[in-house]
Amino acid sequence: MPERIAIYPGSFDPCTYGHLDLIQRAARMFTHVVVAVARNNEKSCMFTVEERMDLLSEITKGWPRVEIASFTGLPADYARQRGAVALVRGLRAISDFEFELTIAITNQKLNPEIDTVCLMPSESYLFLSSRLVKEIATLGGDISSFVPPQVVARLHEKMRLNES
Ligand code: ADP
Repeated sequence: MPERIAIYPGSFDPCTYGHLDLIQRAARMFTHVVVAVARNNEKSCMFTVEERMDLLSEITKGWPRVEIASFTGLPADYARQRGAVALVRGLRAISDFEFELTIAITNQKLNPEIDTVCLMPSESYLFLSSRLVKEIATLGGDISSFVPPQVVARLHEKMRLNES
């Protein structure tokens, strides 16, 4: 089978069960899925790029066809560099649609050879976002149904460090 590489770019600050659901779906469609942590907006993130990559690597260890990487610049350029045929993005409740459509069309102009494939998560994760998880954790809520145990532990550790 010829190789069909997909890039799944994002902040993953931190990764949630929604992201992981999408990675698994993409890995069923492509021969290789590169989960690519963007290095562009580090300052506004809770976790460093390395911390986010470590979490993703730990959680997806042993998953076939999945690679964790990071990139600087435009996803379309990174996709070209990696010889990818597609960019994977997620569509949750309707709020994502307009934003994702805009960046998909922009990426199409930047690199006409690459298509954006939007995937829908399982219904349970339709309203889940990294931002929501961070907000609930900061307010002391239970996030164990939204993120894997490794992320729960790392979030609690980060909050303790921020307090001291
Ligand atoms: P970005 O800063 O690029 O939006 P995110 O890590 O927030 O980075 O999201 C990366 C991609 O994953 C986006 O396309 C987003 O819509 C998708 N995504 C995030 N959470 C979910 C979820 N719960 N279900 C489906 N897609 C999701």
